[in-house]
Amino acid sequence: MTLASARDMGTAEGGLSTEERLLQQTAREFAQREIAPGAAERDEEERYDRSLFRRMGELGLTAVPFPESIGGAGFSYRAWTLVMEEIAYADMAMAVSLSVHILSQYPVITWGSPEQHARWLPPMLSGERLGAFALTEPQAGSDAAALRMRAERVGPADTPTAYRLTGTKIWITNAIEAEHYLVFATVDPAAGQRGITAFLVEKGTPGFSFGRKERKLGIRADTASELIFDGAEVPLANRLGEEGQGYRIALSALGEGRISIAAACTGLAQAALDAAARFLTERRAFGVPLAEQQGLRFMLAEMAQRVAAARALTRAAADAKDRGESISEASSLAKWTASDAAMSVTTDAVQLFGGSGYSREFPVERMMRDAKGAQIYEGTNQIHRLIVADHLLKRLTQGSGG
Ligand SMILES: Cc1cc2nc3c(=O)[nH]c(=O)nc-3n(C[C@H](O)[C@H](O)[C@H](O)COP(=O)(O)OP(=O)(O)OC[C@H]3O[C@@H](n4cnc5c(N)ncnc54)[C@H](O)[C@@H]3O)c2cc1C
Repeated sequence: MTLASARDMGTAEGGLSTEERLLQQTAREFAQREIAPGAAERDEEERYDRSLFRRMGELGLTAVPFPESIGGAGFSYRAWTLVMEEIAYADMAMAVSLSVHILSQYPVITWGSPEQHARWLPPMLSGERLGAFALTEPQAGSDAAALRMRAERVGPADTPTAYRLTGTKIWITNAIEAEHYLVFATVDPAAGQRGITAFLVEKGTPGFSFGRKERKLGIRADTASELIFDGAEVPLANRLGEEGQGYRIALSALGEGRISIAAACTGLAQAALDAAARFLTERRAFGVPLAEQQGLRFMLAEMAQRVAAARALTRAAADAKDRGESISEASSLAKWTASDAAMSVTTDAVQLFGGSGYSREFPVERMMRDAKGAQIYEGTNQIHRLIVADHLLKRLTQGSGG
């Protein structure tokens, strides 16, 4: 059996439809032909290649998980996870960029008015414009409800005509390259999460600029940087949802985003597993291929087990979303499991490559660096443990009538 067919076996569980298989094949061929070859060079140069994002738009990949009624391709979220796996298999940095782009516009579908759909979605679905999601601040990461960025009403308090945004966001993926930003600010700092409000902001808005670019360990081909708002005025028409709905909007977007990142982690882990398996069949020591060593075969099997578990939980969360169920717990389980799987599988891959694994001449050290961030962004894995425990204990309390 070839490695390629072994990989297909790994993704066959759960039964994909013909359309899903075709989509998977399209994404795979594109990713292997156009994304994979330059991944090491882009990482080395810390360079974002906007032409690859444009190509994803031309192929329709940026429209995959959106309903046809608003110009999307009408695929399920399960289908979206197939795309994410394939892009991340080729380059995790591009997958994260694409995932954040989708994360930044999904809430527009759910919470936006028909006018906002017409104005914001078409250039995002076509890949003409790139999106960013701006929640984190210097003093508000895991504790996102502690954000301080102000949104001051312009005009009468009960019927504002605009909002003035003041504050700093950090660690914003796609920031410099993006044109559209989903930004969270508070209309009332004393109100905690009840003051948080979401805004759609365009690049070039006066008073909105970029600060420091983050110098990252991994996914270096995708940029992250500070956003600085110094009284940037956005019209009322750019407010997404009502005042005070921003926190719910952020959480709903993150629920979807976490499934997408879980799928990317699965693809990254699969890439490291395949590279390690190939290496063990080619590298000889003590007169036999390394793949003959039982201890190393056990390592491969355990890596495959973690990839399969990551994929199964990711698909389960995507299926729950497709059925319209709450995804808070399922998306946390998937993201936590898949990012831990990516970290441990890529670390094992480096070990199995020996000295070559530690060299930038081979891809597995980049994969290991790329994996680490996924245990931190879109909710750290400690926060996901808290979410899962909350759900579990709530069920217990409800079950006991408490
Ligand atoms: C590569 C990358 C890309 C990112 N992209 C974006 C983006 O596009 N948009 C955006 O808004 N943000 C983005 N972020 C920010 C990211 O969401 C935050 O870094 C993350 O939420 C953690 O916040 P923090 O860094 O402030 O850490 P802190 O919240 O200060 O946490 C520090 C440590 O304490 C732990 N911890 C905190 N609270 C608890 C608790 N109650 N119980 C147990 N442990 C706890 C955390 O798990 C962590 O280990 C990105 C981050 C990275 C690394």
